[in-house]
Amino acid sequence: KKIVIAIDGYSSCGKSTTAKLVAAELGYAYIDTGAMYRAVTLYFLEHHVSLTNPKEVKDALDKIDITFHYNPKAKRNEVFLNGLNVEDEIRKMYISNQVSEVSVVKEVRRAMVAQQQKMGKKRGVVMDGRDIGTAVFPDAEVKIFMTADVDTRAKRRQDELLAKKQLINLGEIKENLLKRDLIDSTRAESPLRRADDAFLLDTSHMTIDEQVEFVLNKVTS
Ligand code: C5P
Repeated sequence: KKIVIAIDGYSSCGKSTTAKLVAAELGYAYIDTGAMYRAVTLYFLEHHVSLTNPKEVKDALDKIDITFHYNPKAKRNEVFLNGLNVEDEIRKMYISNQVSEVSVVKEVRRAMVAQQQKMGKKRGVVMDGRDIGTAVFPDAEVKIFMTADVDTRAKRRQDELLAKKQLINLGEIKENLLKRDLIDSTRAESPLRRADDAFLLDTSHMTIDEQVEFVLNKVTS
């Protein structure tokens, strides 16, 4: 029987790396919900949408179409905004610096959650984000809540950006992670928190293989 695996947690704990590998192992789809909020943020910035103007927000959301397409060369799912591949653009620092403010907006969350529920309706998905186990799929069969100490997370994110030739200093990255964690966990609409039935996974001292193993063990047990 196909299930939903919900992976939530703080920024840069290794959620997407783990989720991707778990999905590949099970032959499931992997859905990166953070990429969706990032794509919305890119659109809002490009079109100067005012977050405090509900009509502007609603009109913008009506014009936004977010899809995922598999890139066999890069062996990954990539996110498209209105038909344009924005996978690389949305990972940049200027998006990371705005995305949590955009994700606070109720109308934005409602639109994204509805689309995510549709995408996971047939189950057989691994979805990572901040509110998957609490709001998107409260009935997910397996829920994981990931954390790691902030210095470890900042270093991992720095290495990731460096691999994409973006040189950002550790202090700036750490500040961004802490800011997002704070906004994400204190917002009114479905804040980031561990679902009561989620397994806690602290990845501070774990290898990627160990993290994947941890999740797969919960699936089979
Ligand atoms: O996962 P990622 O770090 O790319 O997510 C970027 C941001 O998108 C988060 O910091 C959070 O503000 C928002 N987000 C969210 N709900 C989700 C996934 C992401 O609010 N399910």
